[in-house]
Amino acid sequence: MGIEAVPASQATLEIDLAAVARNWNGLRGRLAEGSECGAVLKANAYGLGAAEVAQALGKAGCRRFFVAHLGEALALRNIVPPKARIFVLNGLLEGEEQGYVAENIVPVLNDPGQVQRWSRHAGKIGRSLLAGIHVDTGMSRLGMTPSEASALAASRKSIEGIALAFVMSHLARAEEAVEANRQQLSALKDLRARWPGIPASLANSSGIFLGDAWHLDLVRPGAALYGINPVPGRPNPQACVATLLAPVLQVRDIPPAQSVGYGATWTARAPTRVATIAAGYADGWMRSLSNRGGAHYRGKLLPFIGRVSMDLVTLDASACPELVPGNRVELLGPSRPVDEVAAEAGTIGYEVLTSLGRRFARMYRQA
Ligand SMILES: *Cc1c(COP(=O)(O)O)cnc(C)c1O
Repeated sequence: MGIEAVPASQATLEIDLAAVARNWNGLRGRLAEGSECGAVLKANAYGLGAAEVAQALGKAGCRRFFVAHLGEALALRNIVPPKARIFVLNGLLEGEEQGYVAENIVPVLNDPGQVQRWSRHAGKIGRSLLAGIHVDTGMSRLGMTPSEASALAASRKSIEGIALAFVMSHLARAEEAVEANRQQLSALKDLRARWPGIPASLANSSGIFLGDAWHLDLVRPGAALYGINPVPGRPNPQACVATLLAPVLQVRDIPPAQSVGYGATWTARAPTRVATIAAGYADGWMRSLSNRGGAHYRGKLLPFIGRVSMDLVTLDASACPELVPGNRVELLGPSRPVDEVAAEAGTIGYEVLTSLGRRFARMYRQA
């Protein structure tokens, strides 16, 4: 959709697929020799559109895609190149075997029971089946324990019929320079030694920036593809992907002592120009942004005042007397980085992006 076709009262979310491709290529360029760059597209590519992102990254050369759910994988099967692999991180529960096989989706097996299930299914249909194996080296979340994984490696029988695509683990504190990262790396390398020739994968976006040692054979960035800073506290090496512009619906001047919004949580101390904007918590503009942060317009940051309501937010536009209904202010974008908005909301960029609502006119800038 082009901007001309968008109703004046609707907010626009522009997603720059060229920036996604640049971000992916930039990460790939950082990798140690021999390491492959995959892409994580779970949760609708962090809220930005899995189909569109998959297509752009397929064109850029990506051949390893990760999602959380089988349903997410099925939706991408005919979008990514036929030879590309789609891995489902959440694993293989009872009865899902045929769904994976039918569409050539690869489960990441998270416990010995899942390995047994996949191996039996391979026996039943009489051919070998691909899978990843997830070993939990420090998250206590998903994946089998290192000792379960060692036991599997020791018994050829237990993985009969399974062709291993990789053995993977996930870092708990990748964005910090802590010893725990080294411990997780060494635990995964120990296991890899028991599975000669099987690729290993550990790094998410931030893990890539820990250094070459963490890249192993395959990396799994998500956040950094979408412009979230993988190195918090340092300048963001990634290009901005999502720009959210919301229209001004009304502008009014209020006198001192007049309050704004539900609960009257903001009161004017001086004559104030209030602009009401078409975005609210129903659009994922979090209520924790009440009286926090601001929107950008022509080089100025106009502070949010009053509570975020369902469909509307209000801002102090006193610094911009030229602002009129129909003008669009930037809530997210080059002047309002997702990580800054997230900090104002008391959360992380991941939650800001994955919360973005369905009422925006979504526009894709092609790669
Ligand atoms: C979400 C996820 C990733 C991607 O992490 P980012 O921090 O977004 O790069 C990688 N691996 C696993 C197992 C994940 O769940």
